[in-house]
Amino acid sequence: MRDPRYDILFEPVKIGPITAPNRFFSAPHATGHSPLMPNGSIGLREMKAEGGWGTVCMQLAEIDPSSDISNLPMEKFWDETDVKSHALMVERVKAHGAITAIELGHTGIRARNFDTGTPVLGPSSLRILKPSLPIQSKAMDKDDIRAVRQSHRDAVKRAKRAGYDMVYVYVAHDASIAWHFMNPMYNRRSDEYGGSFQNRIRLFREILEDTMDEAAGEIAVAVRIAAHDFRAGSPMTYDGEARDVIAELAEVPDLWDVNVAGWPRDSGTSRFDQEGAQEKYTAYVKELTSKPVVGVGRFTSPDAMVSQIKRGVMDLIGAARPSIADPFLPNKIRDGRVEDIRECIGCNICVAADAYSVPLMCTQNPTISQEWRRGWHPEKTPQVDCAKNMLVVGSGPAGLECALTLARAGHTVTVAEKNSEFGGRVLRESKLLGLSAWSRVVDYRLYQLRQLPNASLFAESTITVDDVADFNADHVVVATGASWRNDGLGSTSYAPITGFAEHALTPDDVMDGVEVNGPVVIYDDDHYYMGNVLAAHLASRGIEVHLVCPLPVIADWMGYTLEQPRMLEQMVDLGVQMYPNSTATAWTGKSLKITRSDTGHEMPHINGSTLVNVSAREPSDALLLALKAIEPMAAKVAGIGDCLAPNIIQAAVFSGHAQARQLIGDMPESRLYKRETPVLF
Ligand code: ADP
Ligand code: SF4
Repeated sequence: MRDPRYDILFEPVKIGPITAPNRFFSAPHATGHSPLMPNGSIGLREMKAEGGWGTVCMQLAEIDPSSDISNLPMEKFWDETDVKSHALMVERVKAHGAITAIELGHTGIRARNFDTGTPVLGPSSLRILKPSLPIQSKAMDKDDIRAVRQSHRDAVKRAKRAGYDMVYVYVAHDASIAWHFMNPMYNRRSDEYGGSFQNRIRLFREILEDTMDEAAGEIAVAVRIAAHDFRAGSPMTYDGEARDVIAELAEVPDLWDVNVAGWPRDSGTSRFDQEGAQEKYTAYVKELTSKPVVGVGRFTSPDAMVSQIKRGVMDLIGAARPSIADPFLPNKIRDGRVEDIRECIGCNICVAADAYSVPLMCTQNPTISQEWRRGWHPEKTPQVDCAKNMLVVGSGPAGLECALTLARAGHTVTVAEKNSEFGGRVLRESKLLGLSAWSRVVDYRLYQLRQLPNASLFAESTITVDDVADFNADHVVVATGASWRNDGLGSTSYAPITGFAEHALTPDDVMDGVEVNGPVVIYDDDHYYMGNVLAAHLASRGIEVHLVCPLPVIADWMGYTLEQPRMLEQMVDLGVQMYPNSTATAWTGKSLKITRSDTGHEMPHINGSTLVNVSAREPSDALLLALKAIEPMAAKVAGIGDCLAPNIIQAAVFSGHAQARQLIGDMPESRLYKRETPVLF
């Protein structure tokens, strides 16, 4: 039974000529499925509709070839060729009672046009918005402007033919031609499209009016706009020109979809932004318009959602990541099962996948992107005819996910954990500065397991080979994790570094509370969060920290999770000294010897009392190898997660899920899955 406090979330909302069946709005977001993978993209979006999202949006779709952002897996909506797959997506989503929208856009100076070979188009002749690429835009002439407007009109016509209920005019994320014209940072024109405010918003107004005209009251028109731009020098702020633009066109579209720019601020991680963090910058929009407003804020709590609506911040609850982590979030609220929501942890592995041009991955939801290719459903686990006795050793993310999936399938599952608390690395890491939301990975799975009568959990139970033999399980899954090395062997050095093994502490030591005396030198050859999280953790306690990294930038992978700028800001704020492009050659006991990574030249030593090495992990696979060595046992033993191959938490969860599916007969032994096949001519 639904809690009546949440009734408001299930009210229909009128959007121009259409009506959204409820306030749950799966916002446009990239899926990493390029137009070459339409089946995967359709499967993912259909699942959201099945899970109760009343509005399901397609990601940014390029309106024509001059908006080619290739190497990123953006949707293409260039011509009639593209309509067929969109129409199928629309049909599948609508079958569940949801409405559909497509975010049409021309990416202006965010395009690269590598594939099409035509000039990138911009308001002026500028370097494109990717400084490392040696590409400059063509200043659009009147013919170019006419052509882009016509492309947008044509795309709206195609959207209608595909059956969409709503089309977008896209003016967000610093990735839209209309935005580039609006912003004086990019617009250096002196004709009627440049200079004054009215001139700069002319193209946006024209595209919006063209779109209203083509929509003709048959489908709705939404504007997605950055209601605040965080980047230095941009006047498009909530108390500046972004407000003026929205005030000027307040009553024109049928829906305002508001967020912030750039993308790292729009998709802030839980380390830096709490749920609802955009409110301060977007709440003003409702005061300016009578049209409905949708916003985002990594909302997973129905109370927070209700509060946003009742306080007049927004009318529809937009969600990208929460709808990835739990496509069934709306239905769980509807059915009074709030405690079953698999809450997004705000880690941005999903974003990293897309930015890396691979199908979405999610730390919380291992079934994302596997809906079509493997037939996995996030809420339905195939039931086994014959319950078997399963032993899972280790309760990190891999062990818990495997145990939960096996138990849901009907097997009898025992989880044994040597520590006094369950959760493995997630439990430990979530106690570090800024990572508390990560504990949701453990909380969700533990809670679910404890509801199942066929699952038993035992802490303080170190399992040995003899214990496994005595237990006599039908299958044994070993999920014993990994521990950090201290010897310097890592990403750029495949051999130990002189002096490290004798002296260096590891992240495990710091998390175990070993006393750390400053100044501390952290050698980060891991390039993700651990080095800088430890730096922040220690520096926030007043310890002098030096963060040394062999690559040209600190935490390279965090460029993909969008966290790098915020993290660097945090390091500077906390007084952490940073040394990128610096390769360690030895620890003397009181200083780190380094060379420039690119040239090999020696650099001044970095003095410190303590060295913390963050480089690679050693699989804790002794039990697994011992069991595999026993002939009758080997066939029923499998290893999962970090004890096989240390990786990110998402990979551990996925590994546990995949192993469980295999054991319940829902995944072939072969690693092949259904693939999208190219059409041969
Ligand atoms: P993963 O990321 O692969 O899930 P973790 O390191 O997070 O790995 O979790 C591994 C868990 O396994 C830890 O909580 C650890 O205490 C536990 N563990 C390791 N060896 C044993 C063992 N022999 N018996 C029971 N639990 C174990
Ligand atoms: Fe949320 Fe992380 Fe999943 Fe993305 S990958 S949806 S941020 S839990």
